[in-house]
Amino acid sequence: MNRPPSANQPSLLVVEDEQDLLEVLRFSLDREGFSVRTAENGEDAIRLVREQRPDLIVLDLMLPTIDGLAVCRAIRSTEKTRDIPIVMLTARGEEADIVRGLEAGADDYVTKPFSPKILIARIYAVLRRSAPVGEGVVEAGGVRLDPERHEVTADGKQVDLTATEFNLLRLLVLKPGRVYTRQQIIDLMHEGFVAVTDRSVDVQVVSLRRKLGAAGERVQTVRGVGYRFGE
Ligand code: CA
Repeated sequence: MNRPPSANQPSLLVVEDEQDLLEVLRFSLDREGFSVRTAENGEDAIRLVREQRPDLIVLDLMLPTIDGLAVCRAIRSTEKTRDIPIVMLTARGEEADIVRGLEAGADDYVTKPFSPKILIARIYAVLRRSAPVGEGVVEAGGVRLDPERHEVTADGKQVDLTATEFNLLRLLVLKPGRVYTRQQIIDLMHEGFVAVTDRSVDVQVVSLRRKLGAAGERVQTVRGVGYRFGE
């Protein structure tokens, strides 16, 4: 049954060309209380996003003609739509696709096959962390950063970090659970980050983990993709 849309129901656009999967998703997301629109190809997706802005887009990467990456870039390159969160759907084991999708502007991903429950949890997490963040103190999972005083504590204990480590940790802690590729980390850390290779990001992460002690386990490697701060 389709519920009437209301102001507190997040609206979703689901883009998927496999009709069986699309129906399962439509049913599950509708039952969860989302207001759901669907598209089966990239052209329709771009048109629907421009007609009426959804709160979040679930986007399959493998679409006929205009693929998900191109849809992602089109949405990100338009002023009115560039900040809409995108959760992409990718094939299992396609780590290169995940990296390309994140770098094209997707906020998160779910690999097929997945249960609707997993996707719903991911949608809520992305909606939560897409709220604008200020310049103030950030805190998650026992780690607290005060940018003004350049102070970091992990489980209440003070930690001495270099400017680069501080910026890297701040980037990760600002959006717990969000996966960043090495290239995104390099691009997003404009301050105090002199090194520009993938390998140097890995070196920073190793040092950061060591300094954070037990909380360092939260700086997680996502194999073949990048890093995230565990929720
Ligand atoms: Ca597909």
